[in-house]
Amino acid sequence: MQDMYSQSLADLEQYCTRLGVPAVHAKTLYRRLFKDFDTAPWNTPGLPVLLAEQLRVDMRCNEASIAQESLSRYDGTVKFLVRMDDGSLVESVLMPEKKRITLCISSQVGCAMACTFCHTGRMGLKRNLTAGEIAVQVVLAQRWIREHASWREERGYPWFASISNIVFMGMGEPLDNIEGVSQALRILSDPLGLNLALRKISVSTAGHLDGLKILLERFPKVSLALSLHATTERERSQLMPINRRWPIGTILNYLRDFYQQRDGDSCLLVQYTVIRGVNDSLDHADRLVELLQGVPVKLNLIPLNEVEPSRFQSPEPESLERFRDHINAAGVRVMIRYSKGQDIAAACGQLVVNAEKRKTSPLSEPVTIS
Ligand code: SF4
Repeated sequence: MQDMYSQSLADLEQYCTRLGVPAVHAKTLYRRLFKDFDTAPWNTPGLPVLLAEQLRVDMRCNEASIAQESLSRYDGTVKFLVRMDDGSLVESVLMPEKKRITLCISSQVGCAMACTFCHTGRMGLKRNLTAGEIAVQVVLAQRWIREHASWREERGYPWFASISNIVFMGMGEPLDNIEGVSQALRILSDPLGLNLALRKISVSTAGHLDGLKILLERFPKVSLALSLHATTERERSQLMPINRRWPIGTILNYLRDFYQQRDGDSCLLVQYTVIRGVNDSLDHADRLVELLQGVPVKLNLIPLNEVEPSRFQSPEPESLERFRDHINAAGVRVMIRYSKGQDIAAACGQLVVNAEKRKTSPLSEPVTIS
């Protein structure tokens, strides 16, 4: 049986056509699924009997559910532990801001990239998520917002508030799961589906060149975030083993060409986790500026979130500010971004799911992010 949440609208239209029923019914099904959160859309009144019956034979909706939710007392961030049909656990994080609501979602169970400072990396890769398992994280969060009037009201959101932005910065390297992520992007951006413009969806990568080429060819308008974290090939290869396969110089050359062709209508978000004594000197700042030359960037400096056990430490506030000011003086758009949800282990670098330990200590487990 196929998962309804993994179908693009075009897939469902073809399905209808193959059955010999008008393709317009696919739109009805899509609305029921993604706007009404109906998990049995084949029961929709008015569907041709043949279509309804065949759907019951061929399709199902995956039964992913929120196994646990944690609300930050400080900033209203909500971390969801989502259980997939096979029992796999992933995390998504809902981050309220004044003018937008962002959901950070996972693309894999674990991650194969093994970045040394990252707790998801230590899990290894268990498996890719399907497009439906990616999309359902958004459906679950959207339904949660609808059902939690007090959370909306405390933040001054109207009753119809919905997720406005998606970031693929949860568990996994999205471009290592390019087919699942591509199909999820079709579903998330469909006006009859979750209706999120591609520029409001940000795909974050550690530098997976093969996936990057496919992504930008298929979805040139999607927002892109690059996790950089180091300024020389040697240092980056130590922190992020993926750099040995695709050196950062090669990735940035490719992106330089891409953005030149885009002619200034978009820019690259670069994330740089600042780690005390590892990548936070003024020499690093100089090299960072040099490395990014010719690429239109917004640079976010993210002080490392310390997660035990780790040999890495977050930077001193003064040295972080000095680092930022030095880069700013060189004309690069740069901001310090403090992660949200730190009290619920939902911040960057904290997403890790350890099902065994979680049985006894659900909230104390560290979890990660790209
Ligand atoms: S930082 Fe991102 S790419 Fe690297 S191991 Fe963690 S989840 Fe994977």
